[in-house]
Order: sequence, then structure tokens, then C-alpha cells
Amino acid sequence: MKGQHKARAVRVFTNSSCYFCGAGAAATVDHVPPQACFPSGYMPERFEFPACEACNQGTKKQDQIFALYSMLLDFDESKMRRREDLEKMSKLRQGIANNYPEALPDEARALPITRLGSLVTPRPVAYSFPVTSAARDAMQVMTRKLTHALYFRETGRILTGASAVEAGDEPVGTCGGK
Ligand SMILES: [Zn+2]
Repeated sequence: MKGQHKARAVRVFTNSSCYFCGAGAAATVDHVPPQACFPSGYMPERFEFPACEACNQGTKKQDQIFALYSMLLDFDESKMRRREDLEKMSKLRQGIANNYPEALPDEARALPITRLGSLVTPRPVAYSFPVTSAARDAMQVMTRKLTHALYFRETGRILTGASAVEAGDEPVGTCGGK
């Protein structure tokens, strides 16, 4: 089923260049945001982009790390009741612990948040963690991927050229005509 879906998506993008680098031939489909960001069974439409092998494989690490943080922020584990979601989350966390342990939140430096708007809560509503450099890198790469992906989706063209699109202090993409 999954293989069929991929084959169909690749066919749609036949003859396209890579949405991210603009140079490589798109032989794969990149999901932006990554599928790992979402609970099981949730399959957003139009989140698939033609990518070359190098860009797709080269951002797998950042995809995984971004997905973990995104799941932690959006889908509190304590609220996840479905077995498949808990398993997905635990697999993601384990994969990162094995491959990129430096990217995991440092539990020892967690600070409890006991405010909800102007209300002070008796128990922490969340915990704040310092952002690791691996997590920061993942967020920067994801920002660039999202910028290229949205530009491709909205214009049908690949974001290339001389002018940088800036977000904060990091260039997130390039575009021409400026
Ligand atoms: Zn590429």
C-alpha cells in the first residue's frame, strides 16, 4: 500500500528537478513536514515534494529530530492514548537516542512552567528545555525545506537565484528578481 502510494507520487513528479536544491533530478518524494511529525494515520495532502536522493537522504537526520520536537510540542505524550501513537513516539525517541543522543532534550535542565496566561497553576503545565545545537540545526534545515516546499507548491517553480529570503539571522532560501 505504502509502495503503491510512493510510486504514484513519483510518477506525478516525473521530469521535475529537486524542489530543494533545484539541481538534482527528482528520483524520490520528500514529505515536508516529515510524516513522523504527525500521529499515525494522519496523512496531510499536498505535503509531498520531488526531491533528489542527496537532498532527501541528506536531511533525514533533521527530519527525525524536528519530528520528535514537533510531536513533543503538539502532541503531549500524556494525552496520547492510542497504542500506535505511543509506539510511534517511543520508536522516534529511541531512534534519536541511538543515532543522535545529543539532540534529545536535557531532562536535567528542565524548568517547570506553572503559568497559563495570567493564571499560576498548582502543578506544572509544561516544561521548558534549553534547545540543543542539534535541535537548532534541525529547525533551521526544516525552515529552509518548508520555504522551498511552499514556494514550489504555490508557484510550481523551484526557489533558486541570488536573493536570500531571511528568517531571523539565517538565510532560509533564495529567490530571483529582487
Ligand atoms: Zn536536491
